Amino acid sequence: MRKFVYHFNEGSKEMKYLLGGKGANLAEMTNIGLPVPPGFTITTEACKDYNDHNQILSDDIYAEMMTHLQILEQETGKKFGDATNPLLISVRSGAPFSMPGMMDTILNLGLNDLSVQGLENATNDARSSYDCYRRFIQMFGDVVYNIPSYRFEQALTDLKNENDYKLDTQLTATDLQKLINQYKDLYISVSGREFPQNPFEQLRLSITAVFDSWENPRAAIYRRLHHIDNQLGTAVNIQSMVFGNTGESSGTGIAFTRNPSTGENLFFGEYLLNAQGEDVVAGIRTPEPISHLEDTMPEVYQKLLDVAALLELHYLDMQDIEFTIEKGELFVLQTRTGKRTAQAAINIAVDLVHEGKLSKEDAIMRIDTSQIDQLLHPSFDEASLKATTSLATGLPASPGAATGQIYFNAEDAVLAAERGEKAILVRNETSPEDIEGMAKSVAILTAHGGMTSHAAVVARGMGKCCVAGCDAIAIDESQKTLQTATFTLTEGDFLSLNGSTGKVYLGQIPLVESEIGGHFEELMSWVNEAKKLVVRVNADSPNDLEVGLHFGAEGVGLCRTEHMFFQDDRITYVRQMIIAETLEERLIALAHLKEMQKADFAGIFRVANGKPVNIRLLDPPLHEFLPKTTQDIEKLAGELGKPVVELKQRVQDLGETNPMLGHRGCRLAITFPEIYIMQAEAIMESAIQIHDEGIAVFPEIMVPLVSSKEEIAIIKKQLKEAIQTIFRREQLVLPFDIGTMIEIPRACVTADEIAEEAQFFSFGTNDLTQLTFGFSRDDANKFLYAYQEQKILPIDPFQSIDQKGVGALVTTAVQRGRMTNPALKMGVCGEHGGDPASIHFFHKLGLQYVSCSPYRIPIARIAAAQASILEERQEKVMV
Ligand code: ADP
Ligand code: MG
Ligand code: MG
Repeated sequence: MRKFVYHFNEGSKEMKYLLGGKGANLAEMTNIGLPVPPGFTITTEACKDYNDHNQILSDDIYAEMMTHLQILEQETGKKFGDATNPLLISVRSGAPFSMPGMMDTILNLGLNDLSVQGLENATNDARSSYDCYRRFIQMFGDVVYNIPSYRFEQALTDLKNENDYKLDTQLTATDLQKLINQYKDLYISVSGREFPQNPFEQLRLSITAVFDSWENPRAAIYRRLHHIDNQLGTAVNIQSMVFGNTGESSGTGIAFTRNPSTGENLFFGEYLLNAQGEDVVAGIRTPEPISHLEDTMPEVYQKLLDVAALLELHYLDMQDIEFTIEKGELFVLQTRTGKRTAQAAINIAVDLVHEGKLSKEDAIMRIDTSQIDQLLHPSFDEASLKATTSLATGLPASPGAATGQIYFNAEDAVLAAERGEKAILVRNETSPEDIEGMAKSVAILTAHGGMTSHAAVVARGMGKCCVAGCDAIAIDESQKTLQTATFTLTEGDFLSLNGSTGKVYLGQIPLVESEIGGHFEELMSWVNEAKKLVVRVNADSPNDLEVGLHFGAEGVGLCRTEHMFFQDDRITYVRQMIIAETLEERLIALAHLKEMQKADFAGIFRVANGKPVNIRLLDPPLHEFLPKTTQDIEKLAGELGKPVVELKQRVQDLGETNPMLGHRGCRLAITFPEIYIMQAEAIMESAIQIHDEGIAVFPEIMVPLVSSKEEIAIIKKQLKEAIQTIFRREQLVLPFDIGTMIEIPRACVTADEIAEEAQFFSFGTNDLTQLTFGFSRDDANKFLYAYQEQKILPIDPFQSIDQKGVGALVTTAVQRGRMTNPALKMGVCGEHGGDPASIHFFHKLGLQYVSCSPYRIPIARIAAAQASILEERQEKVMV
């Protein structure tokens, strides 16, 4: 027969899938000799059995449970339901993964009108006995009969007010008896059922209610948010009660073996005297700091310290402990690995290595990369945040927290910033023309667009907070209003954004800067020893690159030249180049641009100081640079001395129906070779200049959107010729590479041919994802949520690489590329280069590097180290 019930001494911490986290740890603590009130656990398998049989608890499981209850009676010398010396128990839910506050617990079960008198006689304490009884009726009513707990709280408050009491502890036994009668009336009036007096009925109903609580909506939502499997089910722990509500030598509390917000190795916690269960967290009375216990009950305090030290050593991690003191005697009721801030996580992991308790590799494996963002960006002041209204939630497009005044176009945002305000740029979506406004704002909020929309990508590059695709708000850019169902905001109003959660708040919230301490640096030095992947930065400017290098970038994986084109002083030349009708005209504009680009590249090469710099030649369709409004067209016509009508016509001609699939990337160079030739010359001439300054340079010239060998062959020949001419003229030869961006499915499939012409492949996984799925990057978020909800896709493929489809194409390209060109350098420069799950995939493929936006670099480095440690460990298991 299958075993569904385990006494605490039969389990261990390894059994958390079967016993739940709480049950497994109660078993472990029992077995290492800690003072845990005895009890047993009904397994998660029993929960599954219950759910598989239409929410019916099988007779076999019930009988097995009864056997364990009898053992518990022997262990405690008390009898369940007895009128003279009743055994009271708690019924505690406990899933395999902690879901704090999501599920239910009932205390003091076994009490009824008779046994409460038995308890009173046995303890000689009427007050605490009736206090237990009223707590039980309240919790049972809430959990089992769904009587809202505020109804009970209200009755309690009314009674306190009648008597002019401030604290619950002032209620006398007689008061409590009166309250109990009121509670019983609530049962009838709210649920239409009486409070059940039979303890066995109480028990059965409580167990099934805990099983049912696995399915309650808030638990289901929590599981979805935290990616916890719905099938796991919850265990139920039945434990004999200990009483913290029996006077001033009793109490209950919570302690952390180290400080969970700073990581400092100092015992930390709170407790309340004469209290039970959740009173500490419920905020009914203000708890005392744990250090006071040292003064009032030094022996108990010392015991608690010993327990904490033992548990931490046993679990080799910071523990979060629940304890109860009954008449001066300490009991431990729960331990689990404590939740902590990113700062604390790093400090604790590094300290544990220093203390000789953890290896460096283990410390690296412990770091939760999704938490690291917290470390690098400022965050909201916790207390103020709690007092703020959340307005809407969008996509967490670029992490960090920001607070400021809203402006509806780039110009207004720039002006506000120049006045010294903190501006938040609010747009339906951003375009390259908004760059300056984005740069001068403290944050960006868009109503449309996904995780790889223009706003998201650029904001991440700038390390700027961004919430994108927030479709609960309506933005009217011309009227300059932002509307939600309940609020209308106008220019200059205050908003606060959290780019790590996607939340938008009304008003101002103070920020706190985070600090990267010495411990972080030390951890990152271990990361460098462990990782195999090189981590580069996507940087369009010397400034981006500096930030990237500060975070440990080992080169530039992607420098997008077009972002330089939008600057005020050059956009006219760019436009002149585009609308030129003759080659001569175009060459004049290109000559101007070349000088400007040389200065840009020189700036980046200087900062890179010999590290490789991958520069992508012009990628977007030309019409993106053209003026759009009549006003702008007229202005340009004036500047270039052309008739307005003619210019309008030209702009119209250059328009494209689907620019993402249009005249862009290397296709521009096939029709206008002089553009890429100019850029290659600018790259090499500035490289020579920097070389002459005595600084090493290594440019990689990248041709985007290649789909066939012939394209790259033709372009490479032209670029090489131009570069050879420069070398001959300057009497100098510098090393450089020419390669391709791999971002079109056809390029993956014909990678063996392309590799004959390319010295490197850089996977542009954003476009590759878009083209593989046929999903538009900018519109996909309108339906991708439904794809995730219906489990068509496990996760947004623009955030984390789709290994089955897009990943298979990358794998093909890697294999084919190596076949014809074993020396081929390969890396990734899409957003996926900063995503931990994708990084694990790229590590396994044996790529040389990943490249990501500056603020993602520490995350990418840690993920790369984790991937390589994991691989080593798996190899060891195989041998
Ligand atoms: P949660 O998972 O919400 O923390 P718990 O099952 O841990 O719920 O219980 C809620 C509170 O009741 C905790 O403070 C716990 O310490 C206390 N508690 C649970 N069982 C007992 C018991 N047998 N005796 C005394 N207090 C208990
Ligand atoms: Mg608990
Ligand atoms: Mg691309």
